[in-house]
Amino acid sequence: MANILQHFWSLVFPQTCIVCNERVLVQGEESICTYCRSRLPQTDYHLHPANNVLYQQLVVHLPVKYALAYLLFTKSGRTQQLLHHLKYRDMPELGEELGRWYGAVLAEQAFQHHFDAVVPIPLHKEKLLKRGYNQSYHFALGLGISLGLPVWPEVVVRKSASETQTRKSRLKRWQNVEDIFEVVVEEKVAGSRLLLVDDVITTGATVLSCAFALKEAGCSEISFAALATA
Ligand SMILES: [Zn+2]
Repeated sequence: MANILQHFWSLVFPQTCIVCNERVLVQGEESICTYCRSRLPQTDYHLHPANNVLYQQLVVHLPVKYALAYLLFTKSGRTQQLLHHLKYRDMPELGEELGRWYGAVLAEQAFQHHFDAVVPIPLHKEKLLKRGYNQSYHFALGLGISLGLPVWPEVVVRKSASETQTRKSRLKRWQNVEDIFEVVVEEKVAGSRLLLVDDVITTGATVLSCAFALKEAGCSEISFAALATA
């Protein structure tokens, strides 16, 4: 019944693609039209997972197995627009859709055999309450579906902003975030090969901070996957 209603709704109020804002979505398209999908600024990091700019950037701080990213920020602003919808337009399903697409790309290269689980970077509790969902979790869910891997959002938590305020005296930005994350299910993390997922990786400070916490808890390998990177 819900499907019939949805179908009727879409006839009365046709949905347009969130990237071009022009083309009406047809059956099988969820939020992005096929034309725009084929023109997303994808990286080729899945072909060089241990030899790309993101990998080089992260590996100087921590032993990293692979660094992956689906999209690049471009002048056209398509990636920025997608992220804006994902974060501020109440579209968690967009994260899952993009995650499924990228997961399919990674599955073609047999990446599923290199990880035991996908772990999304947790949001601050305050942000989670405000937004209502963690966009990185939904991207991770999509990756997990296409790769056939479990998603473990429960293994690591992010301390609240007020708890970390007291650590502001530290000098470097990325030492500031060092103690933000806490592993709470050590028995799952220990010995596991984890794919740590964030929506955006720029400086890498956040993902590295979380990776350190997971390493300390005994995970055997860390890889990174971002929805977008600069
Ligand atoms: Zn479009």
